[in-house]
Amino acid sequence: MAAWICVTCGVQQRDAPEPPAVCPICADERQYVGWGGQRWTTMTELAGDHQVVVREEEPGLFGVGMEPAFAIGQRALLVCTPHGNVLWDCTSLIDDAARARITELGGIAAICMSHPHFYGVNVEFADAFDARILIPRADEAWIQRPTSRIELFDEEAEPVPGLALARIGGHFDGAAVLHWPAGSQGRGALLTGDTITVVQDREWVSFMWSYPNHIPLDEATVLEIARRAERFTFDRVYGGWWGRVVVQDGAAAVRRSADRYVARLRGERP
Ligand SMILES: [Zn+2]
Repeated sequence: MAAWICVTCGVQQRDAPEPPAVCPICADERQYVGWGGQRWTTMTELAGDHQVVVREEEPGLFGVGMEPAFAIGQRALLVCTPHGNVLWDCTSLIDDAARARITELGGIAAICMSHPHFYGVNVEFADAFDARILIPRADEAWIQRPTSRIELFDEEAEPVPGLALARIGGHFDGAAVLHWPAGSQGRGALLTGDTITVVQDREWVSFMWSYPNHIPLDEATVLEIARRAERFTFDRVYGGWWGRVVVQDGAAAVRRSADRYVARLRGERP
């Protein structure tokens, strides 16, 4: 038996003697099947030529990624709080060095993810640290590796006291963000993965139904995402990849990006 990992999205499936015929995450129009066809690997195989890197992003926040990059190439974030740590998003590998480093940082109390493309090997991380996994009920059908550790939530949850996990929708019905009020020296940080994506011009963000296939969202949904984000106070926005960070004035960046997006949908140009 092995818990197969899709090579294109990096999401782990339930234990099975043979890998599934297709990865449901990649068969969806928001992702894609690798050009060479569906391919699978395992965490043991990945550990042979990849390693986990843990790097400080700012005091109390650590990026957790893989080198070389694998699948979608995202990096997760470990938010350290006096009430326990939360792993935001996930990648496809946990190794001994990462286990030791994360233990040193206080372990993981809860794991939550922006959306199903970043589910990675969340069950492996949860098992390693005896952590809860929080998944929005709206995305229940996207759970690829079921476990009794999963707790479903509707609109908002508190993974540990002081952090707010909120369903924002858009990219997925359950697409979520994590609000860390202590981030950015107390000015607040919003961890968004791909729910609100930080683009190359890091003073802006964007919102998509599909990023790899460039399928946009509609006006009402984009405005609703911005509206739901606005109830939080934040200065910094952490997207899903190394360096994809709106360093300051993040709340204004989300608002002006939503307004620009809607203007283009209406055919208005600068
Ligand atoms: Zn996949």
